[in-house]
Amino acid sequence: MSKQVASATLDSVKKNVKDIQLYIDGNFVNAANQEVFSNHNPFTNDKINDVASGDKDDIEQAVSAARKAFKGEWGQLKLKDRLAYINKIADLIDEHIDEIAPLESYDTGLPISQTKKMVARAAHNFRFYAEMVNSRLVGEVYQVDDEFLNYTIHKPVGIAGLITPWNAPFMLETWKIAPALATGNTVVLKPAEWSPLTANRLAEIIDKAGLPNGVFNVVHGYGETAGASLVAHPDVELISFTGETTTGSEIMKNGADSLKQFSMELGGKSPIIVFDDADFERALDAATWGIFSFNGERCTANSRIYLHESIAESFTERLKERVQNIAVGDPMDEKTQVGPLIHTNHYENVKGYLELAKEEGCEVFSGNIPEEVSRGNFIAPTILLGAQNYMRIVQEEIFGPIIAVMTFKDEEEVIDLANDVRYGLAGYVWTNDIKRGHRVAQAIDSGMLWVNSQNVRDLRTPFGGSKHSGIGREGGHYAFEFYTEIQIIHVALGDHHIPQFGK
Ligand code: NAD
Repeated sequence: MSKQVASATLDSVKKNVKDIQLYIDGNFVNAANQEVFSNHNPFTNDKINDVASGDKDDIEQAVSAARKAFKGEWGQLKLKDRLAYINKIADLIDEHIDEIAPLESYDTGLPISQTKKMVARAAHNFRFYAEMVNSRLVGEVYQVDDEFLNYTIHKPVGIAGLITPWNAPFMLETWKIAPALATGNTVVLKPAEWSPLTANRLAEIIDKAGLPNGVFNVVHGYGETAGASLVAHPDVELISFTGETTTGSEIMKNGADSLKQFSMELGGKSPIIVFDDADFERALDAATWGIFSFNGERCTANSRIYLHESIAESFTERLKERVQNIAVGDPMDEKTQVGPLIHTNHYENVKGYLELAKEEGCEVFSGNIPEEVSRGNFIAPTILLGAQNYMRIVQEEIFGPIIAVMTFKDEEEVIDLANDVRYGLAGYVWTNDIKRGHRVAQAIDSGMLWVNSQNVRDLRTPFGGSKHSGIGREGGHYAFEFYTEIQIIHVALGDHHIPQFGK
């Protein structure tokens, strides 16, 4: 039955997918040079459609439209009216969850049960930031006796350049667009070239919501052309980037001449530590979900597991059972838990890590890929046994459904092991000893740390990484520091002393 539903869903998605244009100044247009690139479905590797391939000229047009809108109607809007637009976008996304989620699964291979949640969260991102701006975008007042009243205000920065990855495209795009627009900026989005479908759908939705022309623009295209032009553009005040660490560093170099602000959400290699007193079953559920959800293409995935030596054997056995039972298959099928990886290039890269794991001395234990889906970019859920911290498969982000398994003797040792990577995005600690839970949590070098939990987000809290996993924080009011300029205004209340040079 679920297979029939999946095939009906696919038919309906295919019927509605057309070639994609850029969205600039309220119009859907071809790239100035008329170039296109092909977009493929990861489940079959068949071509989905052609996508306009934007470049420098298109970025120029989009930035010019965004500048005009910022100086014009959008910049003059009352807060209430601006936030009404933001809420309207949320409503429209909510109305179309059942249509956007299959589109996202079709484009990325992410299982539909997961994309439905991501799309719902995308709507929530807008509603959340409308509420946050209304209630928390506030200044401070510093009174200096009867002499001065000094107060801060937040102003939108101007044109926000947003550059996003393919691993959870719709959700991650909206996570940036919502605070950028709600705080009053205008936006040029450069979505990932491997997942353009829902970015285009978002442009249609924002168009339908009736935002003034030029407030929101989408320029599809390659990172090295469209992305790099956006980064180098002198009128773009800030770049919010999510993607690989090496790309982030390249972007910072390219944006240096125009002195931009950067928010960098980068790669991860997050540890999960399971002590012998942990709730075994819950830790097993969390560890399994944390690495195999989103097909393992999750920045906060727990891709390294450290098991206390007294439970290592039993935990590993249970992990093996889970891996063999995970439902691998058609992303359109509600029952699927792991789908195909986004692209053949990424698939080859991840497969290379399985070879490397063997060369480095690991035992590679994989689940099953059903015969009928062999055309897709499938990597079976895999655990790497006998891994050691010095190995590349432990140090490097693989970004697939693969977890390296290691053991430890005591707290001190595991803290050292957990911190011995260049990344510092997330971490997970499982123990029922409350003191140890806090102690280890605080000792791990990561922007975010969960104790006795999988990654459960609270949107009010800061999101971001330390070390090579990022710079800055998004989420909650933390996003305001990036998307707004804080101005301090000093007002003299009386006749304070002024030096009288030359009098
Ligand atoms: P990527 O760095 O290859 O690409 C991300 C975006 O940058 C794409 O839109 C791409 O076109 C663009 N780009 C590439 N080169 C560019 C350049 N020179 N100038 C401007 N733009 C350029 O990343 P990806 O492969 O799409 O995504 C996977 C990576 O993203 C993983 O490393 C993952 O950990 C990371 N990620 C991090 C977070 C986080 O919040 N920390 C969240 C999701 C994904």
